[in-house]
Amino acid sequence: MKINHLTIHEAHELLVNRQLSSVELTKAILERIGEIEPKVRALVTITDELALRQAEKADKLLVTGDTNPLTGIPVLIKDNICTKGIRTTCSSRMLENFVPPYDATVVEKLHDCGAVIIGKANMDEFAMGSSTEHSAFYPTHNPWDLSRVPGGSSGGSAVAVATGEAIYALGSDTGGSIRQPAGFCSVTGLKLTYGRVSRYGLVAFASSLDQIGPLTQDVTDCALVLNAIAGYEPRDSTSAPYPTPDYTQCLTTDLNGLRIGIPREYFVEGMQAEVEIAIRAAINKLEELGARVEWEVSLPSTPYALAAYYVIAPSEASANLARYDGVKYGFSYQDTDSMWEALEKTRQHGFGAEVKRRIMLGTYALSAGYYDAYYLKAQKVRTLIRQEFDQAFEKFDALVTPTSPTVPFKIGEKVDNPLQMYLSDVCTLPINIAGVPAISIPAGFADGLPIGMQIIGKPFSEETILKIAHAYQQATEWHKRKARI
Ligand code: GLN
Repeated sequence: MKINHLTIHEAHELLVNRQLSSVELTKAILERIGEIEPKVRALVTITDELALRQAEKADKLLVTGDTNPLTGIPVLIKDNICTKGIRTTCSSRMLENFVPPYDATVVEKLHDCGAVIIGKANMDEFAMGSSTEHSAFYPTHNPWDLSRVPGGSSGGSAVAVATGEAIYALGSDTGGSIRQPAGFCSVTGLKLTYGRVSRYGLVAFASSLDQIGPLTQDVTDCALVLNAIAGYEPRDSTSAPYPTPDYTQCLTTDLNGLRIGIPREYFVEGMQAEVEIAIRAAINKLEELGARVEWEVSLPSTPYALAAYYVIAPSEASANLARYDGVKYGFSYQDTDSMWEALEKTRQHGFGAEVKRRIMLGTYALSAGYYDAYYLKAQKVRTLIRQEFDQAFEKFDALVTPTSPTVPFKIGEKVDNPLQMYLSDVCTLPINIAGVPAISIPAGFADGLPIGMQIIGKPFSEETILKIAHAYQQATEWHKRKARI
């Protein structure tokens, strides 16, 4: 196997046994980036010099034995997570030249582990989108078929993990942005319980929904990254003050006694037949592994989740993005003496079409007279959705659904039709609305295109979903297939 396709745990083994050095591993990754990046365009910034310096440092740590499972392993960071001294663009003209003076908490934590940061990943502008086509720079291509999208908004992160441009990556998930691209690229992606990982240093999109999480090649790696990044942190007031377990301890293969429910509303109308067939087969596998499956569970408010999300998320975005005024930081339109014109033109030129659409939707929903009809109503729907999950979890340890209703679509197919684009997240949005954790893992292919299975858990029960996902990966080979590119 090529070394750039090693998992974290495989690479760690070789590193601590001195059969591989971090510098060798980092060079292999950079070589792969050089070879494949013109085809997939997953990265916005490559920090090659920094990466090699960090790798040298990691090699010294490996000699002294002062190590961690992530020491010396190359990681790619989504470009909406602040990295001190490294440009953080959110794939937007607005922040094209923004260099943060501080690291996000997750990045600090990775540094503490001796990680090697190889660059920043392309994404939909400000994480708004499902295809990475809304990047202000260029779209990212799906390695399984270059004419298709990799999903989004963490498309760059997912592609890099799928192609061996990184050993693992960080993404962010507001309505599906880790899980949907993970499903589209055949990698493992986890959205944690809201509050489980600090959002300090994550550029805000919709603050009540955003969570940072890992994209990895398998569930073991996912647990290792969680061990490094999860936990309470006072600089994020929504971070949960609960202790974090060792997430690798739950990785057994015995699902006996686990109760799994299959919510029927997630097998939506218009869903691709091959996706449904693959997911039903995957659920049968979980049953074979000992889980008790109930096939006809109902979460009746699910069909309203999409509408509620597209009121709540744009509302929060319109408030969060008000800070980009051309005065404090970011792009600034200078060609005028009028302050108002400068403000207007800064936002007109700095933001792309999708971001402007969200700001307009959100501003409208929050305006006097419409607030009760839209924003307040959406919040009530949110409560109902949350309550239905609570009730379901009185009976079940986990719920299983497809990650997306279709396989990856063609580049250009939905970009001019926002509603069609929004629909590709129907299965992932309700999870953010409820604040619960969910993982997407590879569960098959249709005509060579990946299909993802989503496993949803109770709040703070990441261990349960990791366990189910791990058991499935031990019994199947889907996650080991690599795109031939
Ligand atoms: N696709 C969804 C949106 O456009 C979710 C994005 C995300 O999770 N960041 O809002």
